[in-house]
Amino acid sequence: MTDIHISIKNKTYVTEDSRQHTAIANLSLSLPTNKFICLVGPSGCGKTTLLNIIANLDKKYQGEILLGQQQIQPKIGYIFQTPRLLPWRTVRENIELVLTEQQPPEIIDALLESMQLTDSQNAYPQHLSLGMSRRVAIIRAFAVNPHLLLMDEPFVSLDAPTARQVRNLLIHLWQLRPHTILFVTHDLREAIAMADRLVFLSAAPMSVISEIEVSIPRSKRNDETAVEAFRQQLLTNHPKIKSLL
Ligand code: ADP
Ligand code: MG
Repeated sequence: MTDIHISIKNKTYVTEDSRQHTAIANLSLSLPTNKFICLVGPSGCGKTTLLNIIANLDKKYQGEILLGQQQIQPKIGYIFQTPRLLPWRTVRENIELVLTEQQPPEIIDALLESMQLTDSQNAYPQHLSLGMSRRVAIIRAFAVNPHLLLMDEPFVSLDAPTARQVRNLLIHLWQLRPHTILFVTHDLREAIAMADRLVFLSAAPMSVISEIEVSIPRSKRNDETAVEAFRQQLLTNHPKIKSLL
């Protein structure tokens, strides 16, 4: 695997009243292989815009995405805010759809097991809880074995206990199958509980304000006191960040 380097000089939208809106300016970010990076920034700052650029869904920008030294589009697994499962396919069929012919079907069994969905593999999406749909979406994204997993506030509509459960399952799967992850959230506690590194983003035009390593050991990430202490210290040491949240 190879590090991914993102450099966006400029991303401009034309608004409905024909004005130019600069969404991103001079943003540069490196994603080390198999690290879990959380992007934290205020609502509307341009996080989804950035993910769509990285995923090559939006080509109207100035800048480059490098896989190692080369300008090659990285293979992406994208988990959107809402799971986008096909309603007429079962859980298993929704996952099968993304596999290549070379991939053995047993990979699905292992992924279902790791996300505690083995018993629900023949269910249709309308019969799944919100948390279960998220878990299927996570499996689908991992199944393609991407260079980079993009996750755009995937747990925002879940209640707190379900969000915690799905977060833990995601981390469990990521530790079994290391991947580079770029996870967007505006919830600093969630970011601290999950990330190797936090990347703080400014309001529009969006750029990187600071990057901070999370030093809490993985074994203590479920300890709310440890997460809160880290958060308080971070806000005290970086007043600029406090003004963003
Ligand atoms: P975030 O995901 O951080 O909430 P977005 O990337 O969705 O932010 O949006 C960033 C800014 O770009 C916002 O001001 C939004 O209104 C604007 N924007 C997003 N998509 C479009 C679009 N298709 N056309 C015009 N403006 C857009
Ligand atoms: Mg967004």
